[in-house]
Amino acid sequence: MYDLGLINGKVYRNGQFTLLDVYIKDEVIAEIASPSMEVPCKRTVDCTNKLVMPGFIDPHVHINLDLGEFKTSDNYESASKAAIFGGITTFIDFIEPINYVKEFDEKLKQKHKEAENSFIDYSFHTTVGNFKDDVEQLVKKSFANGIPSIKLFTTYSESNRKCSYEKIQEFLENSRLTDSLILVHAENDEMILNSTVDDTLALYERSRPAESEREEIEKLASLVAEIKGKLYFVHVTCGSSIEMLNEKYSEILESNIFIESCPHYFYLNKDVYETENGNLFLLAPPLRSTEEQEKLKKNIATINTVGTDHAPFKKEEKMTYNKVSQVPKGIGSLEYSFSLMYNLFGESIVAKYTINPAVIHNLFPKKGIIQEGSDADFVIFNPEEKLIIDSGRSQSDYSPYEGLKITGVVESTILRGNFLVKDRQLVGITRGQFIRRK
Ligand SMILES: [Zn+2]
Repeated sequence: MYDLGLINGKVYRNGQFTLLDVYIKDEVIAEIASPSMEVPCKRTVDCTNKLVMPGFIDPHVHINLDLGEFKTSDNYESASKAAIFGGITTFIDFIEPINYVKEFDEKLKQKHKEAENSFIDYSFHTTVGNFKDDVEQLVKKSFANGIPSIKLFTTYSESNRKCSYEKIQEFLENSRLTDSLILVHAENDEMILNSTVDDTLALYERSRPAESEREEIEKLASLVAEIKGKLYFVHVTCGSSIEMLNEKYSEILESNIFIESCPHYFYLNKDVYETENGNLFLLAPPLRSTEEQEKLKKNIATINTVGTDHAPFKKEEKMTYNKVSQVPKGIGSLEYSFSLMYNLFGESIVAKYTINPAVIHNLFPKKGIIQEGSDADFVIFNPEEKLIIDSGRSQSDYSPYEGLKITGVVESTILRGNFLVKDRQLVGITRGQFIRRK
């Protein structure tokens, strides 16, 4: 006898929706059957006219991020609460940047402690700053702790977070040998440092221009073409960066190069920096021009995953300073990430929230797919329902999308067989688990 049956829904399998019943036992998917079959089950939930998808994976969130004077608004409890209303059942946060291997244990321990209150499953990426130590040793240690991904920056030399090209090469060589994934925040540091643009809101985008991303991505792609290994570009902002990759590096896309983008680069553009409340939209890399935005949409098929880069602050904190360099950078979008992208791209977006991040980030086949033996994580989605976005459940007091009308709403979210959200109400509290990805 099964514990729970999701019946009569349109179930996402092999890239399409099919009428199927899904049965769950002991937190995993036990059987997938045709709706005409009688299957003994303790409790069934009717999903007629609903889309039943694997629980979404957000591979890029910042929780409890400490920027010194300011700290992001969300802890694990509030972030995961916002996440479940958006159908996200697994997210991946970042360990604070380290420069030496000996710093790893302490920083990892700190993250594990913070994450104890998570409602959903989680993992971390190791992060390096101006890394000075042994690459092999770090990757080994990271693997031993269930983490097969290392994030680095090509910018932020002013805060000692820029990783040298020698080290990036070493990380790539190591990736080729060990299959680790190297996540890169790609912006050209020199172009940003040499920018003569004033530290003002109206000129913010020009101080970190589109070319600084495109150039850096091109430089790194040529390194990958030579060395191989696996490199994942986080938060790609420009359609022109992706066009360049399609033109010059198409043969290593999806085998050695992976691309992530975020909902805000599709919905918001740099014109907001000309407005009174522009500070509320400050983040790095910046929002781009409408031309870049259009190109980004046109190249959606090349983008592998959607991450939110969730890093919200409160209004008052964002509005404290006029100088851009003093404003905490980051916005939140965990709760509406999927609905926003679904509104633009429809069903083609589903893989970018499920199987793609699962495969790329080594969560597959535990997560990201509806098949027997996988975790019973689900989103029940009503594609017809309409909603106006409000300030949301994050502890930040605003949403960058407030007032926007969307069609398609996450109705229920299930983590390992337990309803966390049912019919848009919080019904269950589970404790998330750290998922070893290695
Ligand atoms: Zn980020």
